[in-house]
Amino acid sequence: MSPRPLLSRQTSLAVLAALAVAGLAGVRPQSSRKVLGLSAIAVGLLMRQIFAGAGRKLITDPAALPKSEEYDIIIVGGGTAGCVLAARLSEDPTVKVLVLEAGVSGKSLLLSRIPVGFSLLFHGKHVYNLYTEPQTNAENKKKYWPRGKMLGGCSSINAQMAQYGAPADFDQWAEIVQDDAWSWKNLRRYFTKFEKFIDDPDFPDVKSANKGKGGPMRIGYHSTVSEGSKDFIKACINIGIPYSPDFNAGLGTRGVNRIMTYIDESRTRVSSESGYFTDEVLARPNLKVVIQAQVTKILTEKVGNEVKATGVEFAKSQDGKRFTARAKREVIVSAGAVHTPQILMLSGIGPAEHLAKFNIPVVQDLPGVGSHLVDHPVVDIYFKNKHNDSPKHIKPHGPIEAIKLVGSAIQYLTTGRGALANNFGETAAFVRTDDPKLFPKAKFPATIADSTSGPESPDIELFSTPMAYKEHGAVMFPMHTFAIHVCLLRPLSRGTLRLNSANPWDAPAMDPKYLSAPEDVARLVRGIRLILRISKEAPLPARLDLADASPMLDNALDAQSDAALANLVRARVETLYHPTSTARMAPRAVGGVVDSKLRVYGVRGLRVCDASIFPEIVSGHTVRCCCCSACCELSVGKSQNTSQGNQIASPTAGHCKPVYDD
Ligand SMILES: Cc1cc2nc3c(=O)[nH]c(=O)nc-3n(C[C@H](O)[C@H](O)[C@H](O)COP(=O)(O)OP(=O)(O)OC[C@H]3O[C@@H](n4cnc5c(N)ncnc54)[C@H](O)[C@@H]3O)c2cc1C
Repeated sequence: MSPRPLLSRQTSLAVLAALAVAGLAGVRPQSSRKVLGLSAIAVGLLMRQIFAGAGRKLITDPAALPKSEEYDIIIVGGGTAGCVLAARLSEDPTVKVLVLEAGVSGKSLLLSRIPVGFSLLFHGKHVYNLYTEPQTNAENKKKYWPRGKMLGGCSSINAQMAQYGAPADFDQWAEIVQDDAWSWKNLRRYFTKFEKFIDDPDFPDVKSANKGKGGPMRIGYHSTVSEGSKDFIKACINIGIPYSPDFNAGLGTRGVNRIMTYIDESRTRVSSESGYFTDEVLARPNLKVVIQAQVTKILTEKVGNEVKATGVEFAKSQDGKRFTARAKREVIVSAGAVHTPQILMLSGIGPAEHLAKFNIPVVQDLPGVGSHLVDHPVVDIYFKNKHNDSPKHIKPHGPIEAIKLVGSAIQYLTTGRGALANNFGETAAFVRTDDPKLFPKAKFPATIADSTSGPESPDIELFSTPMAYKEHGAVMFPMHTFAIHVCLLRPLSRGTLRLNSANPWDAPAMDPKYLSAPEDVARLVRGIRLILRISKEAPLPARLDLADASPMLDNALDAQSDAALANLVRARVETLYHPTSTARMAPRAVGGVVDSKLRVYGVRGLRVCDASIFPEIVSGHTVRCCCCSACCELSVGKSQNTSQGNQIASPTAGHCKPVYDD
């Protein structure tokens, strides 16, 4: 399918835009002031043309909210799940919904819209620039954890890889929460209802019947893919990893293929904001979205013997005025796996002993809040690209690469193709580390305890990127490179998220305890061995310079012992940005925070809906499950009758049913 250009062929605008990108990427040619000036104009023009409508109807001044207004539902955080919730709940014109989002509109940020731009947002003001506690099993290093601070949340800054996990992951969820509503056979409806896939003649193997056609999130194969990644797929098939026509078809997620992306035909990012907060949705009189509004506390009241959430306190800045908003029915916290448990604890909902340390009055002693933190760790393996055709100019070193970047920007704006339409994570191979074909017993005699959700579920994912990078893209290699990464999908290590202080503006203390389970290290070592084998399989050796002896490269790792590779894992491990399970949906007796309808135990009128609620981390990428949880949760909210005022769901009301079929 030929791409629809982002703009009509307005070459002059494209040149300015290219300079804008160059300026934003930090190029400083001699006439840097001129370049930056032009960049500013270009950004302005681009903003006007591309983002027309973004920001309209968003409220920046909380004082503009009518003082006596009460809302049926207040959503804390307009991120991945928050936008879905708000759009769906406000479909009913009788339900008044207020969204409070700490950041700005993601649609208004150029680097969020261009698929390749997201890592350039890191360390900037539109991202929470968080660091973990020192990781004792990973050379005591603190790890950078960026989280999106804008509408769309992390879906506005992520790598746009659209893969949803393995079917058995959700059957395990249902088993943990003792509610079949979360099983694969029930949830799969939400998975297809959310997506919009249009048959693509270039990908005839994708079975149309398995795909959603009318959902708000456009998915497809619209990203640019490098030749190296195409060779990676062939090499995987040649060593016995089966080709998967569609990772999300429900037949299981094992196999190798190019990965679908949340990128539309005009080659722009599809976030939950762009998918769900359309102009039509934002124009609803019963939906109010306040941006740059940080919720500092959930307000609760005693009603008889019960505690009820009645609203929230929020502010625009640490020293700014505190505002309050009241919720007649519910407060739904969707601030993500880091900030949701922080907000709960700041509000007195969490482990009583921990809250006492900060003199926070205990509203509900819930030891599970902030416990069970789990993340997908990843280790990158670097190779030299002997064709010298990687898109390293997207972070230009010197004037020649800056000129190439201008060319790429023109190409992107006029044709939708080229380096700027790349999402980095181009392909994926989902495998099991006990697969005898890939890890024969003779060579891999040790048995590693199974951590998968079922016999057809993977425990590692290999994915390729068109070039190597370090420190989340901040450090690029001087030569042309190619990288293959191993991500541990089902780690056994569990960590915690705790408060650092009672100040809502301080970051919480995140300790994922990476690699504390020895099995996690062993699996990643197997993943590295598999990557090295793939790198030597045709056709990759024709593309990679496997003889280059540079210490920056990993071709020679084969000779290393498992112990040495384990050390490399400890030195290199980073996040794949998927923290989950800090307000788990599970029985209270086993540390759960919410029930299967996402209601916080012991507090009426309070739910959580985001990556925090995952009973276990899925063996895949997490955006979809956040949106899906929102759809599922939503059916509960929709089943309530607003005329009931403070009433909340009865235990039998509002089971997870397919809301789109309403
Ligand atoms: C760099 C990166 C790459 C990733 N790549 C992929 C990928 O390719 N595919 C994939 O499926 N997943 C990917 N993920 C993971 C995925 O994006 C997240 O798991 C998912 O988006 C989380 O959604 P959420 O709703 O839980 O939270 P978020 O999307 O983080 O939403 C939380 C929202 O709450 C707001 N907020 C926080 N605190 C407050 C407060 N006190 N008051 C008001 N608002 C607040 C935030 O600003 C944010 O908008 C990636 C993540 C990152 C960061």
